[in-house]
Amino acid sequence: MSLSEATEAQSSELTAILEKLEQAETGRQQALSALLRLERAVEMMHIGVTITDLDGKILFTNPADAAMHGYPVEELLGQEASMLSASDEHSRQSMEQVAKIRVWERETLDTRKDGSTFPVLLISDIVEGPDGPVAIVTTCLNLTDRKRAEQQLIEDALHDPLTGLANRSLLIHHLDRSLGRARRQKNYLFAVLLLNLDRFQVINDSMGHAFGDQLLVLVARRLLACLRPTDAFARLGGDEFVILAEDITNETGATRVANRMRDLLAAPFIIDDKEIFVSTSIGIAVSTSGYSQPAQLLRDANLALRRAKTRGKGNHEIFDTAMHQKAVALLELETDLRRGLEREEFRVFYQPIVSLKSGKVTGMEALLRWQHPTRGLLAPDQFLSVAEETGMIQEIGWWVLQEACGQTKKWEDLRADAPQLTLSVNLSGRQFTQPDAAKTIGSILDSTGFDARHLVLEMTEHAIMKEAEPAKRALSQLKALNVQLHMDDFGTGYASLSYLHRFPIDTLKIDRSFISGIGTRLGSAEIVRTIIALAKTLDMQVIAEGIETREQLDELKDLECDLGQGNYFHQPLGSDAATTFLRSHPDFSD
Ligand code: C2E
Ligand code: MG
Ligand code: MG
Repeated sequence: MSLSEATEAQSSELTAILEKLEQAETGRQQALSALLRLERAVEMMHIGVTITDLDGKILFTNPADAAMHGYPVEELLGQEASMLSASDEHSRQSMEQVAKIRVWERETLDTRKDGSTFPVLLISDIVEGPDGPVAIVTTCLNLTDRKRAEQQLIEDALHDPLTGLANRSLLIHHLDRSLGRARRQKNYLFAVLLLNLDRFQVINDSMGHAFGDQLLVLVARRLLACLRPTDAFARLGGDEFVILAEDITNETGATRVANRMRDLLAAPFIIDDKEIFVSTSIGIAVSTSGYSQPAQLLRDANLALRRAKTRGKGNHEIFDTAMHQKAVALLELETDLRRGLEREEFRVFYQPIVSLKSGKVTGMEALLRWQHPTRGLLAPDQFLSVAEETGMIQEIGWWVLQEACGQTKKWEDLRADAPQLTLSVNLSGRQFTQPDAAKTIGSILDSTGFDARHLVLEMTEHAIMKEAEPAKRALSQLKALNVQLHMDDFGTGYASLSYLHRFPIDTLKIDRSFISGIGTRLGSAEIVRTIIALAKTLDMQVIAEGIETREQLDELKDLECDLGQGNYFHQPLGSDAATTFLRSHPDFSD
């Protein structure tokens, strides 16, 4: 090779080297700017990122991570990353873990500069150099909000949104725990108190649901204030509250809690400047024996509550086994009633109503009987209360009306020339307050062809006065059908006399107890006289029920009572016997 050739070769080699160097510099520049972009991106991230050396010293941390822990970035550089962890154990472990498994993900607690802790999700990864691991990158996600949301979800699932009290699920959990403790600890007793506000429905209906809700919140607050911290307090829904009273010594302990509750609620509540008085009924089940399931305790507390309610407002009752037996018997009777209805075992008997002046029969009262397959002919007092309680009285009651209207229509057709009889049918409170009661009665009248003007609906004073305002509205709707309305068992309820004229009532039926007292009990005749005078003042008629003797009849005639009914005239008759009776009394005279 000549010199010039050699020089040329060297120069092109040099050019190649220079080109390579130039390329390398561009690559380095590009890598550097990529790195800068990356660093910028990491600094902008909301997730915390920290790079430590293999000994755990912080080489880099982004502002998000530093802020999360309450430090400026500079203060963290060069520090031990373990100072950010709430547990020493954890930070020591972390190095070993990462070394072992390379990527390590865990939920743990971190510490802020001010010493407070917060939940985090940490993910650590090894950074590899040409000769092996050189650093650890850890991303840090603050879990405070997520944990709070999770906690909230759990809270919501276990608490009543209105009062914030435990709900049924949480109560069951508490009951389970107490049952477990009772199994382990021989002399540990607890009680379940089921509380129900008396007449809450009325308050809700008349004042509105928002008002009712406010009342429930205030009741919950007041009761909460008097409970021991160990007692659980739950709302099951509506106006039903449950208190789980822990560690009572005996039944008296439970009674004491019940009395305390009742006394607390006795003072009025003020809502929207209105004073509201509430009273509560309480059913109590004590964990004395035999309970294995929370549902059993709640069932028995509920039975005791129902019993307490039958004794009137503001009572409490402790469950006992007799109550259980009674409940079972009632359940059987309920099933029996249903079957009786299906198998058409009910009958209507008829008792004549007589004009005391002329002695003529003016009408018939339909009275329900149950031809029971094994127990014989049953009078209403043997099954009516269960029918009322279960609501079956509605179905049975409308059947009575249909049957009696049909029967009386037949009598009318049979005796076309005779004066029209009135038909009196008893309606339960649960019937006449049904929103579609008037419609139901209207369609029964249509289907039987019975004239509304001859139909009398009897409602007891007690049923009317129980919820006077709704009853008044319901009676006005019935009156619009052109039927007559009679107030039954008058004198046994608590009708305020000044209130009476506001109801569209045509006739008062004086209760049997006053008639039977005539001549035997002092004052009875006076009461009857007063009722008759009152009725005359209000332009109402009077019927005396349960006349059994001549003496009673004479006295009632003297008092100018309009109409009477009772065994002295006729006992209630089955439909065939009643037909025979009417045939033999062509002019309906006595
Ligand atoms: P009530 O409507 O006051 O009926 C009068 C009750 O007195 C009837 O009892 C009748 O048999 C009885 N009675 C009539 N005269 C005499 C008498 O001289 N002496 C005695 N000791 N009793 C007499 P019953 O039939 O046992 O009915 C009892 C109650 O059951 C009725 O009282 C009424 O409130 C209710 N009831 C009867 N049938 C029905 C019905 O279909 N529906 C509803 N909701 N209640 C009914
Ligand atoms: Mg009656
Ligand atoms: Mg009566």
